[in-house]
Amino acid sequence: MTTLDQTQLSKLNAKLDQRYQALREEVRGELEHSENQQFVELLGRAPGDIGDESVADALADLELKIIDRHVQELRDIEAARARISDASFGICIACGGEIDYDRLLAYPTAKRCLACQHQRERNYVHEATPKL
Ligand SMILES: [Zn+2]
Repeated sequence: MTTLDQTQLSKLNAKLDQRYQALREEVRGELEHSENQQFVELLGRAPGDIGDESVADALADLELKIIDRHVQELRDIEAARARISDASFGICIACGGEIDYDRLLAYPTAKRCLACQHQRERNYVHEATPKL
């Protein structure tokens, strides 16, 4: 169980929402030049109208390379929101310890604490990608 209080959680939640909306706008901009008008419409709807439908899932079906990285980030955000709902947010998936609030502020979709993230990057150094 995380020790994050309600104020911290809602601040992180707001950051996730902000990033989510920004990503949707970006993807929409990219799709507007494509043949996929139904998705432009999907993304144009007000938040909440989509209900439980996953935007990431809908977009993943498109298999457009240009939006792949956005889809991954949308998924990360959706997963982080799910962790907030089931109270597992802020807990490292590797060691079960708490993730520092400062780290979550900088990187609200973080699934691992800093120590485990470093460990992982050492183990996967060959496929390492630059981190924020
Ligand atoms: Zn850890």
